[in-house]
Amino acid sequence: MASSGNQMQKYKCPCGKSYFTVNRYHDDMGPFDEHWEMNCNHCKQRYQLSSFLKETDRGINEAYLWAPINIFSELAIVEGQLHKAQNDALALARELYLEHWILHCCRGQTKRDIWRNLSDDGRREPGFALFDSLVNDLNMGDYLKDYFNYLNLDYILKKLRVRDLRLDGLRGQAADLQSRLEKVQGLMRMEGFAGQSEYGI
Ligand SMILES: [Zn+2]
Repeated sequence: MASSGNQMQKYKCPCGKSYFTVNRYHDDMGPFDEHWEMNCNHCKQRYQLSSFLKETDRGINEAYLWAPINIFSELAIVEGQLHKAQNDALALARELYLEHWILHCCRGQTKRDIWRNLSDDGRREPGFALFDSLVNDLNMGDYLKDYFNYLNLDYILKKLRVRDLRLDGLRGQAADLQSRLEKVQGLMRMEGFAGQSEYGI
């Protein structure tokens, strides 16, 4: 029995008049990748292959579906707007508070002191062992600058106890776009076509 290879299956397309093919690649642990192709000219013009992350036995994997083109385009637009709002907020926050953040972290004498200031006394990642292995005197400044990213922004602003109205506005915009994005993603999963009905092999 072959332990790896690929398997092709045909599924009915959304309009039902033709089909699309899915190539599934697998190894001895099971399927690990898929390649989808629309063979229906009618559906090709109305649907776009899209993917989202889904938890499976093998960890987080990409799951595919055919998204109606209008939803697919809206998703791309909202994603673009969200990235822009996040980048703008981060740029302003860094301009206002990056120096303050570095000073905050560098209070104290030892590397462990710096780690404590950065990690909220060990309540946040990274753990000390990891921090200790990654950071030395030479790259400490870069590490603290890199840490000042969008994912850590809420925490950093709270920690520094600072507020700025312009920054609040940009972060509010990003939060609105994030929830809009989640709605469109939900819509895509509802309206998207994953082709459960098998057409034949
Ligand atoms: Zn079709």
